[in-house]
Amino acid sequence: MPNTAAAKVHLNRMLTELQGREQRIGEDLEQPLNPDSSERAVEMEDDASLEGQATLLEREIASVKQALARIEDGGYGECVRCGEEIVVARLEARPEAALCINCAREAE
Ligand SMILES: [Zn+2]
Repeated sequence: MPNTAAAKVHLNRMLTELQGREQRIGEDLEQPLNPDSSERAVEMEDDASLEGQATLLEREIASVKQALARIEDGGYGECVRCGEEIVVARLEARPEAALCINCAREAE
């Protein structure tokens, strides 16, 4: 059985951290672009990479929230695909993991 109390603390900490990063990226994206055209090209590239980062962050935030929801309804630590228990070492390394190692390998 995974230690859900410890996982919950860890997941909530991750969530706060991820949401803080998301907020900073959002603020950066709201900055108006520089009127100078050469500067502007660089800033537009920066914005594109920030948008990519924001997409990744949103995905991470969603999987952390789903893991917290699984703790609430008692399904935490079980693979959402095959129902096998996820090994504790994997959950300690990635508390938001939804898949066991076998399913994660297959999903890649
Ligand atoms: Zn599985």
